[in-house]
Amino acid sequence: MPILRVALNVPLDTLFDYIAEEADENDIGLCACVPFGTKKVTGVILEVCSNSNVPPEKLKPVITIFREIPPLSSELLALFRFCSDYYHHPLGMVVMNGLPGRLRNNKPVKMKAGMNNCTQFILTEAGRRVDVSAIPARNTVMRRLLTVLRNEQLLTIRSAREISPRAVSILEDWRQKGWLEAATEVPEVRSESMGDNVPELTSEQSTAVAAITKQFNRFDTWVLHGVTGSGKTEVYLRLIAKVLTEGAQALVLIPEISLTPQLEAIFRKRFTAVRIVSLHSGLNDTERLSGWLEAQRGEAGIILGTRLAVFTPLPRLGLIIVDEEQDGSFKQQDGLRYSARDLAVFRAMQIRIPVVLGSATPSLETYYNVTTGRYRGLRLRNRAIRDAVLPKVECIDMRPEKPVNGLSAPLIHAIRKCLEQQLQCLIFINRRGYAPVLLCPSCGWAAVCKRCSSRLVVHLQDKRLSCHHCGHLEYFPCACPQCGNQDMIPFGRGTQRIEEALTTQFPLARILRIDRDSIRRKNTWQTILRAIHHREVDILVGTQLLAKGHDFPNLALVGILGPDSSLYSTDFRAGERLFTQLMQVAGRAGRAAVAGRVLVQTEFPDHPLYQALRQHDYDVLAETILKEREMAGFPPFVYQALLRAEAHSLSKVMDFLGTAKKIAKSPTGIEIFDPVPANMMRLKGMERAHLLVQSRSRKKLQSFLTYWCGQLNASTKLKVRWVLDVDPVEF
Ligand code: ADP
Ligand code: ZN
Ligand code: ZN
Repeated sequence: MPILRVALNVPLDTLFDYIAEEADENDIGLCACVPFGTKKVTGVILEVCSNSNVPPEKLKPVITIFREIPPLSSELLALFRFCSDYYHHPLGMVVMNGLPGRLRNNKPVKMKAGMNNCTQFILTEAGRRVDVSAIPARNTVMRRLLTVLRNEQLLTIRSAREISPRAVSILEDWRQKGWLEAATEVPEVRSESMGDNVPELTSEQSTAVAAITKQFNRFDTWVLHGVTGSGKTEVYLRLIAKVLTEGAQALVLIPEISLTPQLEAIFRKRFTAVRIVSLHSGLNDTERLSGWLEAQRGEAGIILGTRLAVFTPLPRLGLIIVDEEQDGSFKQQDGLRYSARDLAVFRAMQIRIPVVLGSATPSLETYYNVTTGRYRGLRLRNRAIRDAVLPKVECIDMRPEKPVNGLSAPLIHAIRKCLEQQLQCLIFINRRGYAPVLLCPSCGWAAVCKRCSSRLVVHLQDKRLSCHHCGHLEYFPCACPQCGNQDMIPFGRGTQRIEEALTTQFPLARILRIDRDSIRRKNTWQTILRAIHHREVDILVGTQLLAKGHDFPNLALVGILGPDSSLYSTDFRAGERLFTQLMQVAGRAGRAAVAGRVLVQTEFPDHPLYQALRQHDYDVLAETILKEREMAGFPPFVYQALLRAEAHSLSKVMDFLGTAKKIAKSPTGIEIFDPVPANMMRLKGMERAHLLVQSRSRKKLQSFLTYWCGQLNASTKLKVRWVLDVDPVEF
């Protein structure tokens, strides 16, 4: 009897063997429900073979093989294997992480919801053996269906419906019996002429489109480096149109869920006859599954999604686009710590198609890859809309200023002028390390989360303190727990404090605050965007959420508060991130006819980062930072991995990391640092620390990690939770 080797969602880096009565190579990639301990679980069949290392009497039979949906392609399975190898994460967990939740719950998937008019069926071997004359003559519909399938090989749902409205449920029934299967060959995605609202490309855009389409049938990593407003989206649209006319599919990865509706609307307007599937964390299980199936069946022409969408099965994938490639959200920060951007590049290479990484401020890794020629750079240096120029950036030196509640006199003056002209302004608060905390002015006590080492953030409205790491909430203490002082003050300038200060200064202005709390509800974001576009708002106050990808045509002024805290962060990437963020917010201004102005409140107006911002010159800054990184031996000049560990006591964690360091035995070419507590040392009640390893050679690092992981897994004495983070971006 054949042996199935099944990938299961368990933290062991192995496949599990089961016996099946009937199975062959064609079943690789199908889901199967199997007994595991006392439970039933569903996994994916990765191998079918004839012998097993498990003694035969211990082999259990598989419970069900789910044949309702086609198997995962070998290409997708290879992506999972690569991901498991590269991130040193158990294969079964990688595979199951990439699948929609519905495929994991031990039940067959009902296909009905996913069937559409274009779904085509063909008879299986078993179906061809069915004798038409055995079907009673009164079942005319059944007889006709079977005859058509015999004679014409293929039957679409559309033609089945024409035969009879009952036909669909009969086909469904037959499919469950194994007589039918959905054909893998699917009708071509129709791409129609592109409406009338298609702008003529700027010369920079045409150059980019031409360069990429010229080499459409091979692998290349293109970096589309274009200033904000340079029309990168239009470039994507043209490339996608080309892909669709070739009958292929396009995968577009975007950072944030809040960006999906806007981009989705643009895509739908352009490609009205193409099925566009949007995959993001806001979907429920059913929605996700049906989008995933449409992609797998090849019906969806465009798949728009956040990082997890990189694992979507796409039989005719022709192009991958990663928009805002520098964005941190492409890297998963727990469990399987993969980078969707890097996997996108691997996936494109694997099937020899182009991948486009778009950004106004490419990550330094990507930027460096362009300078070395590994990636191919394309530039859009000008804004796409005629007359729209980049905003003028100025620094306000805060040293001589005596700001009123965080707002300097020049900024207040500029806001007033802006309001007089009935234009909009945006006040951006750099929230990183800059949230308002509750301080005791007499003894210096600050409110800290009991479960995390993080300071609690003040929320004035409901007089509460909240932890932005674990969600813990508590009321303001009436007095300082340390010295009894009753006069506690919120310190720092959070969005709410600034909102208050602005209200005092500009009582007639319509002010809208946007932060995680205020947009938590579904659709709020849409409402907010509409209000902004309809000029129902004069002043916007917000954090990083405001920085991304939105077009605000009436925005004339951007004020930036508190950027300096990122300049002196312990994280070597903080400067790069600050710059990206500032470029993005600055880019919100002056997108249309209105000229934009950006005012940065800083105590270090001469810092190279602000100079680069003033000149809109990313290259100078990037080169400066790259030089520093090379001297210091930081990425992209070295490859890093972090062994992260946590336990209830710090000493236990440190002991573990010490042992791990000893086990590693310092091989040549690998640098192993000492264990250190994480920046966020206490999180959700756990003490956390890590050990950094790095190498100039990715290959050496990889083979070391394989060895090390094996050793760590083998030491059963090490009772702490640990995980490897390859190419870490947070420390
Ligand atoms: P980016 O994503 O590079 O920041 P967008 O794609 O949002 O820029 O484009 C900025 C604006 O320019 C949008 O309003 C877009 O409709 C417009 N635009 C893009 N390409 C052109 C073009 N070739 N001609 C006129 N307007 C364009
Ligand atoms: Zn006190
Ligand atoms: Zn907390």
